[in-house]
Amino acid sequence: MKHFDAIIIGTGQAGPSLAARFAEAGKTVAIIERGKFGGTCVNTGCIPTKTLVASAYAIHVARRGAEYGLAIRDFSVDMTRVKARKDAASARSNKGVEQSLRGMANCTVIQGHARFQSSNTVVVNDEVLEAEKIYINVGGRASVPEMPGIHDVPFLDNSSMMDIDFLPEHLIIVGGSYVGLEFAQIYRRFGSEVTVVEMGPRLIGREDEDVSQAVREILEVEGVNIRLNAKCISLSKRDGGVAVGLTCEEGPPEVVGTHVLLAVGRTPNTSDLGLDRAGVATDHRGYIVADDQLQTNVPGIWALGDCNGRGAFTHTSYNDYEIVADNLFNDDHRRVSDRIQAYALYIDPPLGRCGMTDAEIRKSGRRALAVKYPMSKVSRAYEKGETQGLIKICVDAETKQILGAAILGVGGDEVVHVLLDIMYAKAPYTVVQRAMHIHPTVSEYLPTILAKLEPFV
Ligand SMILES: Cc1cc2nc3c(=O)[nH]c(=O)nc-3n(C[C@H](O)[C@H](O)[C@H](O)COP(=O)(O)OP(=O)(O)OC[C@H]3O[C@@H](n4cnc5c(N)ncnc54)[C@H](O)[C@@H]3O)c2cc1C
Repeated sequence: MKHFDAIIIGTGQAGPSLAARFAEAGKTVAIIERGKFGGTCVNTGCIPTKTLVASAYAIHVARRGAEYGLAIRDFSVDMTRVKARKDAASARSNKGVEQSLRGMANCTVIQGHARFQSSNTVVVNDEVLEAEKIYINVGGRASVPEMPGIHDVPFLDNSSMMDIDFLPEHLIIVGGSYVGLEFAQIYRRFGSEVTVVEMGPRLIGREDEDVSQAVREILEVEGVNIRLNAKCISLSKRDGGVAVGLTCEEGPPEVVGTHVLLAVGRTPNTSDLGLDRAGVATDHRGYIVADDQLQTNVPGIWALGDCNGRGAFTHTSYNDYEIVADNLFNDDHRRVSDRIQAYALYIDPPLGRCGMTDAEIRKSGRRALAVKYPMSKVSRAYEKGETQGLIKICVDAETKQILGAAILGVGGDEVVHVLLDIMYAKAPYTVVQRAMHIHPTVSEYLPTILAKLEPFV
């Protein structure tokens, strides 16, 4: 049996940084990876998809080229080149993570599938490792729901989409949320016919209705077909392609395409970890139950990243690492509940979100003020010819602190940080109004927009 000060399972967005902290502190650490170094974000998530978003944007602008004075008659999309560019971006990070771990003193890198043998031992490649501290950073994978016909047709998920170097003629995407919508716009811009099939009454059901609606309009203008209220989805083979049945109630409406992508949520990689042998508790969906400092119910075992169900983003996983490391090495008792919700949807233009949604504010019973402003009135957006979207900000009527914001529009993923940082500072929104912002930017409109706050209804 090999002994270490710490064992880390998974090289996602928390594990490698935590390994570095242990190693720098002179502690021995073993880090175990069964797949590709860097996990989902690097190999099948953020990095490759945002690289594809960039290709899709270039193609979109080229298509609109005449508006900007670009005189090209004809162009074509080279999917082999698109994929090669994406692969290079992923490979850069994947190699970077592996090299940095392998070059770390005090750090032992093991490739293989890790399973708990007990609360302080892990088996990998028939070898038993022991440590007083064990950190689980195993992430998740695409969910495959038991819908009728699912085993009869080939389907794609976010991982197999990474192998595509051709243009699907008609891509049907089951799931109208963050992952599905990014792929929808990407492939529409590449030139596929795209249909999004969503069970709920609107896209990205977690967002406010007006934001959902604006996102829908952005996609529909580009020709993405959207089928909502698909209450009972079924799959079957049809003419060399796939037929997706949309409802059980209204007879046979169906959409027939060449390929189907499942984007209906994520499942944590926890069922094959031997958690029962360690006594680690999970919830009914398989997420590891972790407290505010990410300790599980078993002393000496922590859960970080997507597998704890407390976040579903690269930045939440990295923030988990910061929380654990600061508690451990800096005597700084940071907690998950200290963080403010923030994320982006990377359609173009992007949606940057921070804090509470309208529904959450309503539920909280607070007295609030709100403002909504169309991107079409923002001169930077107009100058760029990218005027779709809106800016929405809500503030607490008493404290004047910002409660939440949605910035759907050019630069929305960046601009939202102006408000996010003010929220972390617990400063009133009036601070933004005293700042001199750079012209011409989207951010310079925030003071003007905040001057229009009205009672929230
Ligand atoms: C298509 C897509 C796009 C996304 N885009 C964004 C985005 O733009 N921004 C954003 O913030 N987030 C995005 N995400 C989410 C983001 O990728 C994840 O939230 C993030 O990668 C989670 O990281 P993690 O640290 O939890 O684990 P992961 O990155 O999932 O890594 C877990 C690692 O653990 C390994 N592992 C699992 N089980 C074992 C085992 N038993 N033994 C050994 N190793 C094991 C896995 O092989 C994997 O490498 C996207 C996700 C998808 C699917």
